[in-house]
Amino acid sequence: MGDTDTTGMDFIRARVVEDNTTDRFNGKVQTRFPPEPNGYLHIGHAKAISLDFGIAEEFGGKCKLRFDDTNPTKEDEEFVHSIKEDVSWLGHAWEEVVFASDYFEQLCEWAVKLIRDGKAYVDSQTPEEITATRGTPTEVGADSPFRNRSVDENLDLFERMKKGEFPNGTHVLRAKIDMAHANLNMRDPVMYRILHAHHHRTGDEWCIYPLYDWAHGQSDSLEQVTHSLCTLEFENHRPLYDWYIEQLGIWPSRQIEFAPLNPSYTMLSKRRLRALVEEGLVSGWDDPRMPTIAGLRRRGYTARSIAEFLKKVGVSKTESLVDVGLLDFSLREELNENARRLMAVLDPIRVVITNYPEGRTEECRAQNNPGDAGAGDRPMIFSRELYIERSDFMDDPPKKYFRLAPGREVRLKHAFYITCTDVVRDDAGEITELLCTYDPESRGGETPDGRKVKGTLQWVSASHAVNVEVRLFDRLFVKEEMNTLGADDDFRNYLNPDSLQVIPAAKAEAAVAELQPGDHCQFLRHGYFCADTKETAHGLPVINRITGLRDTWAKLQQKQ
Ligand code: ATP
Ligand code: MG
Repeated sequence: MGDTDTTGMDFIRARVVEDNTTDRFNGKVQTRFPPEPNGYLHIGHAKAISLDFGIAEEFGGKCKLRFDDTNPTKEDEEFVHSIKEDVSWLGHAWEEVVFASDYFEQLCEWAVKLIRDGKAYVDSQTPEEITATRGTPTEVGADSPFRNRSVDENLDLFERMKKGEFPNGTHVLRAKIDMAHANLNMRDPVMYRILHAHHHRTGDEWCIYPLYDWAHGQSDSLEQVTHSLCTLEFENHRPLYDWYIEQLGIWPSRQIEFAPLNPSYTMLSKRRLRALVEEGLVSGWDDPRMPTIAGLRRRGYTARSIAEFLKKVGVSKTESLVDVGLLDFSLREELNENARRLMAVLDPIRVVITNYPEGRTEECRAQNNPGDAGAGDRPMIFSRELYIERSDFMDDPPKKYFRLAPGREVRLKHAFYITCTDVVRDDAGEITELLCTYDPESRGGETPDGRKVKGTLQWVSASHAVNVEVRLFDRLFVKEEMNTLGADDDFRNYLNPDSLQVIPAAKAEAAVAELQPGDHCQFLRHGYFCADTKETAHGLPVINRITGLRDTWAKLQQKQ
């Protein structure tokens, strides 16, 4: 690149520029995105993806998709598949797909080298003893009684661990560093554990598996990763990352940490999201309320809106809670430009236009997008019997209510002015029908006498409307900060009981029947919607509301 100007760059990009300037990696930029295939990706991963892939793209480098598959009991091919699908959907192309398990043989050879160099030993304490002797931040740990085994004994035991001679939990391989180190990660960390488990790729070939710290940096080094980006919780693992690389004298990859994405009212932890799925608290990993990429996609969020959201959030080293509304703001910005406007009535009440002849119909033209003349228009049929929203009528309205009420006149969007003349009630006193007259001269929103009305309502013709199932969502959790819950603070206590509202038969204009799964639209006055990619009802797609029209975030910004 040759450019040394870092103005306006986040600290990671500035670091890349600096490395290029000092020729640390000979101008090379190699990154990786390293998910563990133990769940579906969530919006937090999208941040890591946009950094790992984005930086490689911007600096002429390459990014690999590396599955960190070192925990065979929790991993599955289904997750490998979904992760690939999600990364592609977000708009990124990997240089190659690799697996940490590709390196198991190499890692073993390096472990043997450390044993030979007196820098690793087989510990035969129980897992409980190992934990108990680790010490605390204020107390040093205690040396294992097995710490001074001879090289030969260690080589022999490690070989037999590998061969499968011992049951789970009987021995581990540990790095020999310093049990009094100020950083607990440096107190003789475990490198290998015995685990007789079937691995989704290597089958039953291995019964020892490397721990994260031992596998990760070495995989980076093998791939000559120049900037190994990860979240802040790995900051105090960096000394160990560097220690392994130094001891082995291998390619000097470098780890850089950034603050994880933490959106309000959103829980991001694959383990906990998995619990939601397994306990049936949501309909699956792609439930439209889930913060997974699959859930967001199904709900109707676009890859572009997610990218815009991440751009607005930025990259820093300081953890902070991000207003989840910023994602909706980004989606609205996009869909306001290009979503087709359609009409639907979610809670219908029948309107009879008493001065409109029975059996007659006429076509109104409705603009598809007022901001985009090129989007064209469509027909909407007007007839004697219509539906409007129940909440658009009030018997005894307060002063500032500009919608329909007895004696009041409103405009029906793209059609006529109507005036309410009477209401019909059932025996219980519930309103069942509104009787109205229309002004045939008011078509298109203007009248010869120039009179104006303040309320404009959406409507559909009763006999031309289609019944669609509409699903409205609210945040899944009622608590703002969901990612710092204490160990005994159960996330289930914060589930929002009203996060899903199903409207089995909303009345929608005929054009809604043509929506294809995944199509977006705006329902006038209701928000932005997306036709579900999985479910249909009445032979029509189920329609998900992505977000409402109200732009609370922008309002908040204006106030500041
Ligand atoms: P989880 O705790 O949700 O399972 P994880 O960190 O264990 O997440 P991995 O599959 O190991 O999930 O993560 C792959 C990459 O995504 C890592 O580099 C990790 O740092 C990054 N990542 C995970 N969560 C976030 C987040 N909230 N914000 C940014 N990056 C994240
Ligand atoms: Mg992890």
